[in-house]
Amino acid sequence: MVFFVVLIGFLSMGATSDVVKIKLNNGDEMPVIALGTYLGFNENGIVQSRDHFLRNVILNAIDEGYRHFDTASIYETEGEIGEAVVMKIDEGVVKRSDVFITTKLWNTNHERDSVTMALRKTLLKMGLDYVDLFLMHWPIALNEDYTYSDVDYLDTWRGMEDAQRLGLTRSIGVSNFNKEQIERLLQECSIRPVALQIEVHPQIVQQDLVEYAQNKGLVVMGYSPFGSLVKRHGLEMSGPKMDDPTLMDIAKKYSKTTPQVVLRWLVDRNIVPVAKTVNSTRIKENINIFDFKLTEEEIFKINNFNEFKRYTLPSFWQNHKYYPFEKVANPLPNPFVKK
Ligand code: NDP
Repeated sequence: MVFFVVLIGFLSMGATSDVVKIKLNNGDEMPVIALGTYLGFNENGIVQSRDHFLRNVILNAIDEGYRHFDTASIYETEGEIGEAVVMKIDEGVVKRSDVFITTKLWNTNHERDSVTMALRKTLLKMGLDYVDLFLMHWPIALNEDYTYSDVDYLDTWRGMEDAQRLGLTRSIGVSNFNKEQIERLLQECSIRPVALQIEVHPQIVQQDLVEYAQNKGLVVMGYSPFGSLVKRHGLEMSGPKMDDPTLMDIAKKYSKTTPQVVLRWLVDRNIVPVAKTVNSTRIKENINIFDFKLTEEEIFKINNFNEFKRYTLPSFWQNHKYYPFEKVANPLPNPFVKK
């Protein structure tokens, strides 16, 4: 499978910027960096944006050249992303077709009929007619009360196909599926998934799964790209940090920062990074990665950090029939269930 990366120049706010795009297997094009919008989890649940905070982040990101936003029903950020995009369309800065919006179906909406209903609710929140990519967030179906549901993700996929046929989304895909689950889906689907979103950073390189998915014509999107370079849940993680000597050497060579090197490592593997920041300096920094390219040897050096370390490991679901990851001895407590 050959992937085409095309440079598309366009005028924005009076300045010329370049958005690099990757072609999907249905002919659409996805901008090669997505701004992540999950604001995290605290003792009160999902962190909420207040006083249009996230909307303003997105407005600024559009001005800085971002054209791809990653959200999900469970992040509770869909509304503010839609609001910002509509504002920028009204200002004449972008057309709807310039912006690529990825969102995700939550696990409690896996019944075939619930899928289109869930996406209609999302679109209502966003004030938009369609999204560009609708992903099944997990292969795991849950009931409203978060007990396990036995709905097969193949039935859910039929609902995803319905959503695309109705024009509610231009493309459909999956997230957090393992190889066997993708294989089964590819055998049974009527519409092929265009993308797979999985965790990818130096500590989880995912070479096999990435190659498998790319060979089947799926674009891989990598979430949590900074891995241990940044704090997770407010804590330092073991693994390479911002000042890691290997990353610093590469960064110095190209006059870039180590986060930029890590993002470029994904791009050079044909992976679309999904990087979250709400900080205006880092918004600029993270998109400034399209004027250099790592060598094979540098990619290999970063691959060597691999230790199969996941920061998204919902082991509290590990007894579900369709749990996609390896099981652990001591599963985490379920944050979605009230004690
Ligand atoms: P990231 O690897 O994007 O890390 C985000 C953290 O890095 C934030 O604390 C941010 O802080 C900081 N940061 C960002 N850029 C820089 C920089 N240049 N220098 C220093 N620090 C930086 O991890 P996430 O886990 O947030 O994942 C990104 C996105 O992926 C999510 O927002 C979501 O959209 C998606 N995702 C999807 C999942 C799925 O199941 N499909 C699971 C998890 C995430 P600050 O904001 O202050 O800059």
